[in-house]
Amino acid sequence: ELYAGEMERRKLHNTIQELKGNIRVFCRVRPLRDGGLSKHISLAADDKTSICLAKTEESHTGKGTDTQRNYTFSFDRVFGPQASQQEVFEEISLLVQSALDGYNVCCFAYGPTGSGKTYTMEGEEYDETRGVIPRAVQQIFKASDKLACQGWEFTFTASFVEIYNDTLRDLLYKGKADKRPEHEIRKSNNNELTVTNLTYQKVSCEDQVLGLIALANNNRATAQTSQNDRSSRSHSVFRLDIDGVNVGRDAKCKSSLCLVDLAGSERLLKSQSQGERFKEMTAINGSLSNLGIVIAALANKESFVPYRNSKLTYLLQNCLGGNSKTLMFVNIAPESDSFGETLNSLRFASKVNDCVIGTASANRK
Ligand code: ADP
Ligand code: MG
Repeated sequence: ELYAGEMERRKLHNTIQELKGNIRVFCRVRPLRDGGLSKHISLAADDKTSICLAKTEESHTGKGTDTQRNYTFSFDRVFGPQASQQEVFEEISLLVQSALDGYNVCCFAYGPTGSGKTYTMEGEEYDETRGVIPRAVQQIFKASDKLACQGWEFTFTASFVEIYNDTLRDLLYKGKADKRPEHEIRKSNNNELTVTNLTYQKVSCEDQVLGLIALANNNRATAQTSQNDRSSRSHSVFRLDIDGVNVGRDAKCKSSLCLVDLAGSERLLKSQSQGERFKEMTAINGSLSNLGIVIAALANKESFVPYRNSKLTYLLQNCLGGNSKTLMFVNIAPESDSFGETLNSLRFASKVNDCVIGTASANRK
């Protein structure tokens, strides 16, 4: 049996989720490249939910007083540059856990290239630097072992997809490069979404999944040689489908955990974006803004949610909405030359957050 304390913790988590709605937004600031302190970003030591950006505007005469503008944003949680991977994961481990309780869970990393999305989601190879994906996988398998003592039997299926220019690519593909099949998203009669010709790999332990992640990274790297830094211009979606049965209790559960490293949110100048770049930029802007629209529509409980406007939201359709839980990280870089992009990212994320808070307080009345 689960400890009473653990049960209490989970109950509390679910109660908070119900009160606040099922969408969370976290902000994470990565350390400065040279290790110093950021000049324009400040985080209050006692307040882990807000971030302040300051911009000093020099007066045009050169003599007059400079003016300072402050922009403050609030999120469910703000992680400063010192926050470790473990600290970050602790805040989301209950969310991951709820995937085994039958909730669909989606976690996104949003932000410009170089802001720490991949570090947050995948992390690096040493134990302490591992990111959300390997930690979540470890937690799921550990927790499922415990549940096995209570008669639960789980089947896990992993898939890993890249979305580049609104086209899907199987990151677990093992065949010849010139035989790569094309993929389509199909909805079956029972409203389940599947991707045609995609590798759906049954997995039963952590190491097996880590092997698949390595294969996916390899697959991404191969594509990269011909188009430099392609990974920053594509979304990657790791998905673990969970099917549980408990014969003794005559119970079943079914859910998915989706962990998404989004394409860089930076705006390219029109002059820089011709040909292939222009196509990429249009696809990225379209899918990221549609993601924002979908999340807002879900938070507002709108009757129509435009999932189909992009491959990303269409692919994630049954993991968003309904009884699912969504977490968005907005990753930001602290260097002063990133000021504009940082402000853009925070504005996007706070728009998402405002919708959520607005509806949550409405729910509480
Ligand atoms: P993105 O995926 O958004 O393009 P990355 O995750 O690749 O950005 O991060 C850019 C660089 O910053 C990488 O070298 C990464 O190791 C480093 N980095 C990002 N976040 C952190 C962090 N929280 N702590 C230490 N290094 C980080
Ligand atoms: Mg990246």
